[in-house]
Amino acid sequence: MTEKTCAACDCRIEGPGIRVTVGGKAVEVCCDDCARALNEAHAPGPGMQGAEAKTLNG
Ligand SMILES: [Zn+2]
Repeated sequence: MTEKTCAACDCRIEGPGIRVTVGGKAVEVCCDDCARALNEAHAPGPGMQGAEAKTLNG
């Protein structure tokens, strides 16, 4: 059994998390806010879309 932790806030992810691809690397976060935070933190610059967020629903 593997425990997943949020890549942004480091809290435990229970149930389906949100998978985001940041810089070509797939990580999981607990909520949409964290996904957005990661995207903004790793964004190469304003106006560029370097990350993609997808909700895992089942
Ligand atoms: Zn989080």
